[in-house]
Amino acid sequence: MEAGEDCCVKVAVHIRPLIGDEKLQGCKDCVTVVPGKPQVQIGTHSFTFDHVYGSTGSASSAMFEECIAPLVDGLFQGYNATVLAYGQTGSGKTYTMGTGFKDGFQTGLIPQVMNVLFSKIETMKHQTEFQLHVSFIEILKEEVRDLLDPTFLSKPEAINGHVGKVTVPGKPPIQIRESSNGVITLAGSTEVSVSTLKEMAACLEQGSLSRATGSTNMNNQSSRSHAIFTITLEQMRKANPAFPGDSNPPESMSDEYLCAKLHLVDLAGSERAKRTGSDGLRFKEGVHINKGLLALGNVISALGDEKKRREGVHVPYRDSKLTRLLQDSLGGNSRTVMIACISPADINAEETLNTLKYANRAR
Ligand code: ADP
Ligand code: MG
Repeated sequence: MEAGEDCCVKVAVHIRPLIGDEKLQGCKDCVTVVPGKPQVQIGTHSFTFDHVYGSTGSASSAMFEECIAPLVDGLFQGYNATVLAYGQTGSGKTYTMGTGFKDGFQTGLIPQVMNVLFSKIETMKHQTEFQLHVSFIEILKEEVRDLLDPTFLSKPEAINGHVGKVTVPGKPPIQIRESSNGVITLAGSTEVSVSTLKEMAACLEQGSLSRATGSTNMNNQSSRSHAIFTITLEQMRKANPAFPGDSNPPESMSDEYLCAKLHLVDLAGSERAKRTGSDGLRFKEGVHINKGLLALGNVISALGDEKKRREGVHVPYRDSKLTRLLQDSLGGNSRTVMIACISPADINAEETLNTLKYANRAR
């Protein structure tokens, strides 16, 4: 199947370079990119995607321009959008998104989104009033955790060793709600109102730190959770001054309100549950993570299938918290980009092939 311009799900592959550990182990590069084509080969398998990015210095900005900038433009036209980073643990999801406190924080996609967002607002602020909100949550074991919860941030020592388990007394669990017009909201999570790039960057940093604290204390839990950074843009186009002698200005001259959100998702590691350990607890976590990724795969493949869409086939959003939360930003008028992150190392070949198959299903 050729890449369709108007397909609602675009899929890109991001191949990171061999990293220190892999080089030390003497790993070989087992992934090749067909020159001039968005095509990758591994062993005897060959896959074509919308875009393929290698590890050259310009990959991150090319990825942003080609895949993400159009979604930011869409946000100003009122279209919701979702960016998903998929792949095994260590494949570069956090680096690609910029949800790590240290790694890739400067070059990741989220910092680039923020830059473009604020420069666009700067050029439009005379005709339009803007309000921006940010939330940053994590889904672990089908439970939603607020990464911007001020009670976590003010007392980091209180959460030492217990991130993800702490429930603040009197604070009800975060719930995903759907309004009668299909808008999904998260009841009980922190929504920070931001008016500058610096404020938004602080939210990303705080949430990333909160997530990182969890991962060092809880057996790398960040690889098992989905982290979702959401930017909500509300805009009110200011009405033109009334025309003299015209008491009914044309429709286009009246106030126009638009609200849209962009979800930037650093998904849980896609490696199989069998590889996450044999004790009961960890197996349960594995099962739950697979539940989100499984549901996401089913939703995206239902959306990408023209025939199924025409027949009005049921899209299984309700099968996991992840897909439920993203429901109003996947499919319909929304735009979705999946970035499949892969390691080029031969020791990861099996998981890399799994990732490419999953991503291929999304197209
Ligand atoms: P994941 O979030 O999928 O577990 P990470 O983003 O943490 O993976 O990446 C794993 C390691 O690889 C990190 O040390 C990161 O700095 C490095 N890395 C990932 N992508 C790149 C890249 N494109 N260029 C250089 N280093 C990378
Ligand atoms: Mg990560």
